[in-house]
Amino acid sequence: MSRRTAALATTGEVLHLIRSGEAVTRADIGRVTGLSRPAVSLRVGELLERGLVVERTDAPSTGGRPPVRLEFNAAGGVVLVASLGASRTRVAVCDLAGRELAGRGFAIDVEQGPDVVLPLLMDTWEELLGDRPRSMVRGVGMGVPATVEFAKGRTESVRVMASWTGVVIPPIVQERFPVPVLVDNDVNVLAIGEHRGVYAGMADDLLFVKISTRIGSGIVAGGRILRGALGAAGEIGHIPVKDGGGVLCRCGNVDCVDSVASGTALLRDLRKAGKDVKDIDDVTALVRAGDAETMAMVREAGRRIGEVLAGAVNILNPAVVVLGGDVAEAFASLVSSIREVVYRRGTALATRSLRIEPSRLGAAAGISGCAVMVLDRVLSPEAVDESLARGTAAPSGI
Ligand SMILES: [Zn+2]
Repeated sequence: MSRRTAALATTGEVLHLIRSGEAVTRADIGRVTGLSRPAVSLRVGELLERGLVVERTDAPSTGGRPPVRLEFNAAGGVVLVASLGASRTRVAVCDLAGRELAGRGFAIDVEQGPDVVLPLLMDTWEELLGDRPRSMVRGVGMGVPATVEFAKGRTESVRVMASWTGVVIPPIVQERFPVPVLVDNDVNVLAIGEHRGVYAGMADDLLFVKISTRIGSGIVAGGRILRGALGAAGEIGHIPVKDGGGVLCRCGNVDCVDSVASGTALLRDLRKAGKDVKDIDDVTALVRAGDAETMAMVREAGRRIGEVLAGAVNILNPAVVVLGGDVAEAFASLVSSIREVVYRRGTALATRSLRIEPSRLGAAAGISGCAVMVLDRVLSPEAVDESLARGTAAPSGI
């Protein structure tokens, strides 16, 4: 361990060593931290008591008494997660390793507002928890289709999810589940899930772009999500394009890429051109049928997204750009237009080894991203130490 205060390693830091696999025996912990044997025993004892760590004894291989291995106990608690989309929502209970233990997807119109949606989520968590004691719940992680002031868990968007504007979600959830509640926007959560599930340690600078009803992005820089000062980083959809034709965006500006190249914009423009399209599936059918006008409009949308993305690539120099969302999944020609423009317009160094990849996890990244977000918080050395300090008064749960 490269910690400068190694001799003072706390119980939370010892958990981190065990969880990351850096130290798996008491002797390892002593060696890595410089803690005395009694100090190691004290800290490991606290973790065993909390159910965060379990002991395993491997079969002896070379004779002698085998060392007792310490393992992070993923079954020592659960987190409640919900990935809300504009029309589709998934709710789950995950273990402390972020694996889904029970989950359910359903269609719900989030515009019905927090008074309808939040009780439904909480009822679903109760059902999914089943017989598990409520004291096992260590935290809640949610992704919502709105800009979120992250530190407060406060939704911000004025025109999308209008009924949610200014709602501070955590206290409402904490009335039923008195644990840390983290809320982020849906695209950040997808970026976290895709990064941790597919690219962690290989590509720690990643730009996730969701192209769907709306266009948004989540930025992972140095392995961590970049939220900016308040949580508004990554709003790539509201960067204007050149020669957009003066389209008024729902944010109040003109010619944002979201207003000229999102799924919503594509449907609007196709209808204007006289095509009978209800949804993206209808657009896919026209492309398959070889409709030249539709194909040209899809390519044009890709070109416009590529224009904005090239700028983002120049600023951020990601190792990989991941394209997700149903519109990106549906149209290979849109993706190839994006690639073409990004490679042409990005600087030589920023694009030298840049990969542009489709999302591998799809919507599943939403649930895993929510779990990672809340687990990183509640299992952080600081959070574990704080809960242990409170422990004498409240012995249950982190
Ligand atoms: Zn806009």
